[in-house]
Amino acid sequence: MTEIQAPPARTTFPLEHQLYGRLERLEDASLLTPDALAAWTNANPVDATVTEFGECPRCYFQTSGTSGQSKRIPFTAADLEAQIDHEARSFAVAGLTAEDRVMTLASPPPSLSAWATVAGSERLGAEALNSSYVDFDRILDAGRGAEVTFVFGTPLMLELIGRMTEETFGPVDEVFPNLRAGILYGDVLPPAVERRVRRYWPIDIRLLYGSVEADVIAMSCPDGDRTMHVMDKVVVELLIDGASDPVRVEECPDGTRGEVIVSDLDRELLPLIRYATGDIVQVHRSRCGCGRGEPRLSVLGRRKNELRLGGRALHEMELHAVTDAVLGDRLHDWQLDVDRHGRPDVHAALRVSCRGAVAGDVAGQLRERLVALGALVAEQAERVLEVVIDEPSDEQRAPDGDVKADRIRFR
Ligand SMILES: [Zn+2]
Repeated sequence: MTEIQAPPARTTFPLEHQLYGRLERLEDASLLTPDALAAWTNANPVDATVTEFGECPRCYFQTSGTSGQSKRIPFTAADLEAQIDHEARSFAVAGLTAEDRVMTLASPPPSLSAWATVAGSERLGAEALNSSYVDFDRILDAGRGAEVTFVFGTPLMLELIGRMTEETFGPVDEVFPNLRAGILYGDVLPPAVERRVRRYWPIDIRLLYGSVEADVIAMSCPDGDRTMHVMDKVVVELLIDGASDPVRVEECPDGTRGEVIVSDLDRELLPLIRYATGDIVQVHRSRCGCGRGEPRLSVLGRRKNELRLGGRALHEMELHAVTDAVLGDRLHDWQLDVDRHGRPDVHAALRVSCRGAVAGDVAGQLRERLVALGALVAEQAERVLEVVIDEPSDEQRAPDGDVKADRIRFR
């Protein structure tokens, strides 16, 4: 396996920065919210074109702004080099090697995902055979389908391209007979979605957790479970519910839950300091199958999607676990609409789409499990949570960047 060492962090304390003021140490920094980062990056624009980030001295990645204002994260040429090394180290954790031939289903350039999947793979010595989901068929037109060993994409994009491949070229395992593994990023991978992905892609799945602001934060490995190793370029702290200060992940006991606060000091132009990601994770401290003993993460959901149905806070992945436990492989997906105006008697409608006939009192079983978790109060369960069972719709989602599922909606 290619090992690329992490360079020393270039930002040292004490630090004087227009965005952060004067900081004696990391722990003195207040949390950086997405809005504050967006406001600062928009007020201090980088004079460069977004399409040439491989060459320009001060370039930026623009975030989509789905969670508020868009942000332009600036990088110097040296910053970009460091990011490529970081991506290569992350992909190596996931088992990518110099012998691999990569197909990327990232959203088209200029996007961080397209740039990172190609540049990071090539830094490891692997060959990227295309540049985004838009040109994945270029590989097949060139008769190189059998060369592909590794794939990158979001869960929904893999499902979509898997379906397109099957309809146009044939079964994925015949079209890409040597494809062995894939790195999935950009969204959680609940059991029902994994089954849908696996219907097309019989591959070993590795999970990448990251964001445009921070790049790769954590990555799962071939020998472990789906929990993800924290990458050493970033400092990860957790803001635990009710606490005012975040705690370093290394100091969190097994099972700790909190919001990821991420720092990347290894950047010349704009070090990322205590950026509040809005992602809720759980810490895992058992030794990984690969032998590494450092803490690992699993993503539970977004803070903004945290549900309070009368009991304790409930996260998206817990709702996935509950629906999966009741419905198993009949479950296609679910959608939850929450009426926040009805508080404290929150009314939520859970629409569960299932394949085939569903027997028994599914609604009752779902409510029972949520009560057992402490997320729903038994006496209020029927009033608070309406459950509707229907069939999956056949609508095909059009590719739209690194697509994410939008399962929890508040009004
Ligand atoms: Zn591992």
